[in-house]
Amino acid sequence: LTVLGIESSCDDTAAAVVTEDRRVLSSVVSGQAALHAAFGGVVPEIAARAHAERLDLCVEAALEQAGVGLRDLDAIAVTAGPGLIGGVMAGVMLAKGLSAGTGLPLVGVNHLAGHALTPRLTDGIGFPYLMLLVSGGHCQFLRVSGPEEFTRLGGTIDDAPGEAFDKVAKLLGLPQPGGPVVEAEAAKGDAAAIPLPRPLLDRPGCDMSFSGLKTAVLRVRDQAVAAEGGLRESLRADICASFQAAVAEVLAEKTRRALAQADVPVVAVAGGVAANRTIRAALERVAAEAGVRFLAPPLPLCTDNAAMIAWAGIERFRLGHRDGMDLAARPRWPLDQSAAPMLGAGK
Ligand code: ATP
Ligand code: FE
Repeated sequence: LTVLGIESSCDDTAAAVVTEDRRVLSSVVSGQAALHAAFGGVVPEIAARAHAERLDLCVEAALEQAGVGLRDLDAIAVTAGPGLIGGVMAGVMLAKGLSAGTGLPLVGVNHLAGHALTPRLTDGIGFPYLMLLVSGGHCQFLRVSGPEEFTRLGGTIDDAPGEAFDKVAKLLGLPQPGGPVVEAEAAKGDAAAIPLPRPLLDRPGCDMSFSGLKTAVLRVRDQAVAAEGGLRESLRADICASFQAAVAEVLAEKTRRALAQADVPVVAVAGGVAANRTIRAALERVAAEAGVRFLAPPLPLCTDNAAMIAWAGIERFRLGHRDGMDLAARPRWPLDQSAAPMLGAGK
C-alpha cells in the first residue's frame, strides 16, 4: 500500500506519501508561524486561507519528492478533525476532489489518532502501549490497544503544556513559540529558585492542570516588577527553570500513575513539548523505573505532519475503512469515537 496523507487542522499545511512497510517517501510541511506571529496565536481565518492556498502545492511537492504519481497510490488519507474547521474543510475538500478525480479510496483520519499511532510508523511497535500526547493544543494519556482502540486515562483539565510554555514566554517578554525559548532560558537558571505549585499532584488519577502554573509565574513577575521596576535577567532564567521543572515533575508523576494503570511494555510521547530535554529526561527516568521502553519519535514526526495521517490512513484502510463524499470535517472528534464522521454528524 502507498498512501497520500493530507493534514491542515491547525497551523501547518502538510502532505506526505507513506508505504505500508513503514517508509516515509516524502513529508512536506509548510508552517504558518510567520503569518500568525503578530497576533500572538493562530487566527483561524488566516489559517484557513493559507491552507487553501498551499494544499495543492504541498501535495504536488509530496508526490514529486516521493517520486510517485497519483496512479501509484492506493488511497488518500486526510485529517477530518478535530481542529480549526476552516482548515480541516480545505483539506477534506481537496481529498474528496482527488478521490473523485482518480477513483482512489478516501479515508478520513482523526488527527489525534495520527499522533497516537506514530510510534508504529517510526518504530514498528505492536499493541498495547501508552501514549502521552503533549503539544500546544493537547495533553492526554491514551492507552492504545488497536488502530482504533484508544482509552483515555486522563489529561489536562485546562491548558496544554505547550500553551503554558507559550503563555509564560509571553509573560516574560520572550518570543513565540515559547517552548524552545523558555527551555534555553531555563538552562541558565536555577530550577529550585522559585517555589511554584505542582497542580493536581495531590489528587489521585492522571488528570493534569497547567493554567495555575502560568498564574503563579504572572504573580512572581508582577512582584519583581513592583519591587525592582523590571525583571532581572537572572530572575527570568530562574522563573523559566522553575516553571519547566514543575511541568516536568507533573508530567512525570502522572506518567508513573498512567503506567501503573495501563499495564503496557512501552510508553511513547508525541507533540511539540516532547522536544523538551528536561521533560524527556524526566519521562525516561519514569519509564526506566517502571521497567518499560521509552519511545520518542524523531521531532518532525512528533509535531504536526502528514506522514502520521498517511500512516493512520493505512491502518484504517487495512481494517476495511472507506469514506465517501459524505465525509464531514469535524471541529471536535473525541478519539474514543473512532468511526469516521458522516456529514451532519459533527457536533
Ligand atoms: P496540536 O496541539 O494540534 O498538535 P500544535 O501546533 O500546538 O498543535 P505542536 O506543533 O506539536 O503542537 O507543538 C507546538 C508546541 O510545542 C508549542 O506550544 C511549543 O511552545 C511547544 N514546544 C516546542 N518545543 C518545545 C520545547 N523545547 N519545550 C517545551 N515546549 C516546546
Ligand atoms: Fe497535532
